[in-house]
Amino acid sequence: MAGVTCPFCDSAQVERVAQWGGQIITAQWRCTACNSYFEAVRDDYNDTPASTPSASEPSTGAAASGRQNANRPEAA
Ligand SMILES: [Zn+2]
Repeated sequence: MAGVTCPFCDSAQVERVAQWGGQIITAQWRCTACNSYFEAVRDDYNDTPASTPSASEPSTGAAASGRQNANRPEAA
């Protein structure tokens, strides 16, 4: 967990208080210097996007083409 610093006072004296934050890729941290809570992206999720791009890209294209197909009468 290196590189996590307080976004308020930029102190490195932070401790993780919760495994999960508001999002699945974040954890909740507390700065022991200014006693502020904040969320930071979990190190073990840096390589794993929240939504798999390989699945979201084709689905986005399929949704767009599907809308066009809906407006278009069935050919063949
Ligand atoms: Zn702080």
